[in-house]
Amino acid sequence: MLEDLIKKEVERQNQDLGLIPSENYASPRVLKIMGTPLSNKYAEGYPGKRYYQGMKWVDKIESYAIELAKRVFKVPYANVQPHAGAIANLAVYLAFLKPGDKVMGMSLDAGGHLTHGSKVNITGKWFQSVPYTVNKETEMLDFDEIRKIALKEKPKLIIAGYSAYPRQVDFKEFKEIAREIDAILLADISHIAGLIVGEIHSHPYPYADVITTTTHKTLRGPRGALLMGKEKYAKILDKAIFPGLQGGPLEHVIAAKAAALEEASTKEFKEYAKKIVKLAKAMEEEFLNRGYRLVSGGTDTHLLLIDLRNKGINGKKAAVLLEKNHIIVNANSIPFDPNPPTKPSGIRLGTPMMATRGMEVDDAKYVVELIDRALQGEDVKEEVLNLTKLYPVYEESV
Ligand SMILES: *Cc1c(COP(=O)(O)O)cnc(C)c1O
Repeated sequence: MLEDLIKKEVERQNQDLGLIPSENYASPRVLKIMGTPLSNKYAEGYPGKRYYQGMKWVDKIESYAIELAKRVFKVPYANVQPHAGAIANLAVYLAFLKPGDKVMGMSLDAGGHLTHGSKVNITGKWFQSVPYTVNKETEMLDFDEIRKIALKEKPKLIIAGYSAYPRQVDFKEFKEIAREIDAILLADISHIAGLIVGEIHSHPYPYADVITTTTHKTLRGPRGALLMGKEKYAKILDKAIFPGLQGGPLEHVIAAKAAALEEASTKEFKEYAKKIVKLAKAMEEEFLNRGYRLVSGGTDTHLLLIDLRNKGINGKKAAVLLEKNHIIVNANSIPFDPNPPTKPSGIRLGTPMMATRGMEVDDAKYVVELIDRALQGEDVKEEVLNLTKLYPVYEESV
């Protein structure tokens, strides 16, 4: 029964055209490593300072993962234990803030993450959120406005990094603002880590004091996260993860993170990162040709945020309609969305999964055509299935 359901899901991943910008297809090697008996080992603590015996090999594996993370991200400190991006971010709060302290991240509806101070998240309940948003006209970061809020509110922590922002981030500008008020700057590069490692986007280090990233988005590793940054914060950040927030680390996932970081060091990975943006640019052009309004006018990342209000359909309805045609996107709010999050005005889609599958610019343009026709009520199921059949992701045996 369980095996059947898993098989069905793998089949679905092969057949569907995955366009969710926060998802990807980890390599068979990464997946295989996650299924090893490393999962059995308790390893509270850090390499060389454990609370359990039998650490001879696991210490070597975790040390290797740490070294790789430092090398790949060109940072002096890395912690490979965070179970998820949300936990890595929470560790930063725990390390630098007290409950009630002010934190400044982008509001959720403008493209920030829940853990950047949203009311429904612990970061908005236990800390005082003084959010910034994007400029109403340009729908891009407005550093004059961000500086104004920062100088007025003096948050202890400033967060740069987003879940639905289609433009490159200038971390240096953020650093200058953080420096003026002596705030800690956190770069949450969860979405763009692969683009940074691939040297497509500029690097947040050394501007950011701390960097968090998930490992399963553009980085294309196992589900999990990394916590990195300046050497001087190593101790308090390590302590915030363990014993502050977590118990035993997931060593099978840590080994899989190491495998993903090995992949990220290759020439092929750079090509993949380049391809992600190239495909997104091709989709941008094709959407604009077809009269779609793109938030901020376009993209220079892996993702596009499409305002569907001039197309007479809301984001939720569009996402459901597309799923019926085997195209998987997110319904998503747009900045200053007049509609509620249950019926947002936009959809969010991205190209990392297409790039991993090996799709080309012509495919990306064809995908936009298929989306456009599907949104007009046409049945494009067979065409989508024919396309994905050309670019299979996993063998039956996974
Ligand atoms: C995805 C994401 C996270 C959270 O990652 P989880 O692993 O889902 O907890 C944090 N920050 C940003 C910007 C993200 O996009």
